[in-house]
Amino acid sequence: MDFWFRCCVCSAQTPFGLRETKCACGGTLLVEYDLERAARDMTKAALRARPASMWRYAELLPVSNPEFIVSLGEGWTPLLRLDAAERALPLGKLWVKREEQNPTGSFKARGMSVALSVAREHGVRKVAVNSNGNAASALAAYAARAGMEAYAFLPKDCPWMIAEECVHYGARTTLVDGFIHDAGKIILDGKAEQGWHHVGTLREPGRAEGKKTMGLELAEQLGWKLPDVIVYPTGGGSGIIGMWSAFRQLRELGWIDGKLPRIVAVQETGCAPIVRAMSGRSGPEAAVDSTPTGMRVPNPPDGQLLVRILRETGGTAVEVSADDIRSAQTVMGKLGVSSSPEGAATWAGLAVLLDRGWIGPDEEVVLFNTSHAMKYWPKDGRSLPEVRSYEDWKKIQP
Ligand SMILES: *Cc1c(COP(=O)(O)O)cnc(C)c1O
Ligand SMILES: [Zn+2]
Repeated sequence: MDFWFRCCVCSAQTPFGLRETKCACGGTLLVEYDLERAARDMTKAALRARPASMWRYAELLPVSNPEFIVSLGEGWTPLLRLDAAERALPLGKLWVKREEQNPTGSFKARGMSVALSVAREHGVRKVAVNSNGNAASALAAYAARAGMEAYAFLPKDCPWMIAEECVHYGARTTLVDGFIHDAGKIILDGKAEQGWHHVGTLREPGRAEGKKTMGLELAEQLGWKLPDVIVYPTGGGSGIIGMWSAFRQLRELGWIDGKLPRIVAVQETGCAPIVRAMSGRSGPEAAVDSTPTGMRVPNPPDGQLLVRILRETGGTAVEVSADDIRSAQTVMGKLGVSSSPEGAATWAGLAVLLDRGWIGPDEEVVLFNTSHAMKYWPKDGRSLPEVRSYEDWKKIQP
């Protein structure tokens, strides 16, 4: 095998496996590759000629036989420069990585593409996930593509359109009275009897590896030069773990050098366990009071690793209010970007850090717009004050 596990705590190496995620010491297992071998075919020049897909980095993904790849056209999303905003803030350079353009409208597609490819290579037929929404609809779509049976468990207050999306792709969809971990308990209790492969965050190795491609793309799209700061809306944290792995692998390949970007985790007030852990208070969130988004994960599977990554990169964690997020959605909309609450939270977080002087006016920053605004619109009662009938409009014309 060209890839295996290494424990992020004790560095012990073990063979790659479909279901393992923890070392005997309790540390999270990360996938490592024979980088010398990977670099033989995957050169910078060769990459230029490869398709616009995250699978252009196949040598750094844990699938041995490309026949098993389950793809719906994920990855290689645009990195959009926000020049007008740069001048206004001011900021050296500002980009937004348009992750909402992935299949199923969120970056969860990357993780599910790899997770289900790995699962298919290992002969899995039934897959289950607990999710605040986007992981479930991505699972549903990729399972449909792979011809697998999908089971989705979501908190009942999740965005209704995302639950509909799961049904659209044929997943057996269940709304659970509780939070994402309550939904996860159903899978843990039932997986032996039901034969489910659990693809919840850090329950298998594929999802974090899939999200690693965001870091690889960012480097390639910026000409193998990384920004000063990355602002990322954080829930379970597989994206941060994945991008950190990407940067370390690129550094080992000798493709990037210097300091890694300072990674910033943004969370919403009312459920900000990473913000609390960064200030020395650990343990799950006691009284959750925040919006049902991908950031609402009261008890992330490996908070310690997230804290270590943020500290190691010189990063930080910030919380922003639901009101700040709503205002930021409006700002991003006026920049032409459809941003979900999570995506907009990165804008709100950026504003906080500029205010504090934590990000300097000459720095280069990348925001991750992880999903679309539309997937979160309320079912009814949405007021559209700006929308009026043509008759009304004619009346008020001068
Ligand atoms: C899942 C999700 C997140 C959180 O991502 P993690 O990598 O699990 O921390 C952020 N935004 C959106 C839209 C999500 O669906
Ligand atoms: Zn270990």
